[in-house]
Amino acid sequence: MKRIYMDNAATTRVTPPVLEAMMPCLTGVYGNPSGIHSFGREARRMLEAARAQVAAAVNARPEEIYFTSGGTEADNWAVRGAAYARGGKGGHVITTAVEHHAVLNACRQLEREGFRVTCVPVDGEGVVRLDELEKAIGPDTALISVMTANNEIGTIQPVEEIGRIARAHGVCFHTDAVQAIGAIPVDVQASGADLMSLSGHKFHAPKGIGALYIRSGVRLEPLMRGGAQERAQRPGTENLASAVGMGRAIELAATGIADRAEKVAALRDRLMRGILEIPECRVNGSLSRRLPGNLNVSVRYVEGESLLLNLDLQGVAASSGAACTSGSPELSHVLLAIGLPRELAQGALRLSLNEENTEEEVDCVIAAMRGIVRRLRSMSPLAPEELKCF
Ligand SMILES: *Cc1c(COP(=O)(O)O)cnc(C)c1O
Repeated sequence: MKRIYMDNAATTRVTPPVLEAMMPCLTGVYGNPSGIHSFGREARRMLEAARAQVAAAVNARPEEIYFTSGGTEADNWAVRGAAYARGGKGGHVITTAVEHHAVLNACRQLEREGFRVTCVPVDGEGVVRLDELEKAIGPDTALISVMTANNEIGTIQPVEEIGRIARAHGVCFHTDAVQAIGAIPVDVQASGADLMSLSGHKFHAPKGIGALYIRSGVRLEPLMRGGAQERAQRPGTENLASAVGMGRAIELAATGIADRAEKVAALRDRLMRGILEIPECRVNGSLSRRLPGNLNVSVRYVEGESLLLNLDLQGVAASSGAACTSGSPELSHVLLAIGLPRELAQGALRLSLNEENTEEEVDCVIAAMRGIVRRLRSMSPLAPEELKCF
C-alpha cells in the first residue's frame, strides 16, 4: 500500500540535504564545542555557523539565538523565564485561548506559583481580539505571549500589531513561531517580538532541537542550572548534529517561501474543494489568514477519531487536532475557543500538507474520505438518511 503523509504540522521528515549537513557531526566532528583543542574548535565553528543560519532566517543577530531541546523548552523558557525575571510573585502574564499546550501549561504552572494569567479570547476564525488584549495590560504585566500561527487550524495572528501594542506599553512580547517557519515570512524586526520560539522538526530538521530568540537586552531567568553553554543561559553540552541540521533546514525553509506557499496552498485548496463536496462538512478557522498547508474540517455525524483510524487503514496519515490530544477523548481547546459546538469539534480532522505532497495524493485522500464518511454515516443512528448517499 502506498502511504500518504498529511501530518506535517505534527512533524516533518529529515530531508537529504539536512542529513548530509549533519553527517560530519555524527562521524568525525565529535569534539565538545566547549573544548579548547582543535576537536572542540571545529565543533564550535559548526555550532556557530548553524546559529548564524538560524539568526539570518529570522532577521536576528547570532548572539540572540539560543539552542534548546525543541519548541516546548523554548516556550517554557520564554513564558516562565520572563515571568520570573520581571513579575516576581503576583506578576501578570497575558496569553490566548488557542496557544500550544507548551505555552498554556507553562502559564498554568505560573498560576500555581502565584502569578496571574489572562487568557484573551479569539474570534470565530481564531484571531486574537486585540481590543481585549490591550485592555488586559496592567502595570504588573510581565509578558504577552501570542503564537504567530496556530498548529491546529492554521490561523495567522496579527503579530506586528501585537508587537506594536506590547511596545507601546513597555511589555515584553513572546511569539511561538514554530508553525510559521518555511510557511510565511518570519522577521523579528518586523514583528517586534522580544522572544520567539522555533522547533527544528517542523521544517525538516530532526526532532529534539529548537531555539529561542532573545532580543539583546531582554532579561530572562534560565530554567536549568549547569555549565556555561549558550552564553551561560542554557546549560548542557550542545546537540551539535541537530543544531547543524536545524541551521541547514531553516536556510532552506527561508528560501523561496512565496513560491512554496503558492504551490502548497493550491494543493490544500484542491483538497478543501474535494472534501467540501461531502455534504455537512465545514472548514474550521480562517480562509484568508491561514497557513498554506493547513486544512481543518469538521464532518457532521462522524467522529474525528473514527475518520482518522479509517484513513490510517488506507495509508493516509492525518490528525484529529493537536498530536498530543490524539488518542485521548479530550476535545480541542482551539476548536472550542473559536466557538465550535462540541459535536463538530468531535468530528474535526486536521490535514497538513507541505511541498512534498502531490495532486495525485490529494485526489486519493478525497476519494478515501468520501468512502469513509459514507460508510460511517450509514452506520450512524444520528445521521439523516439524505446524508448517507452522496
Ligand atoms: C510542535 C509545536 C510545539 C512544540 O515543539 P516541540 O519541538 O515538538 O517540543 C510548540 N508550539 C507549536 C505551535 C507547535 O506546533
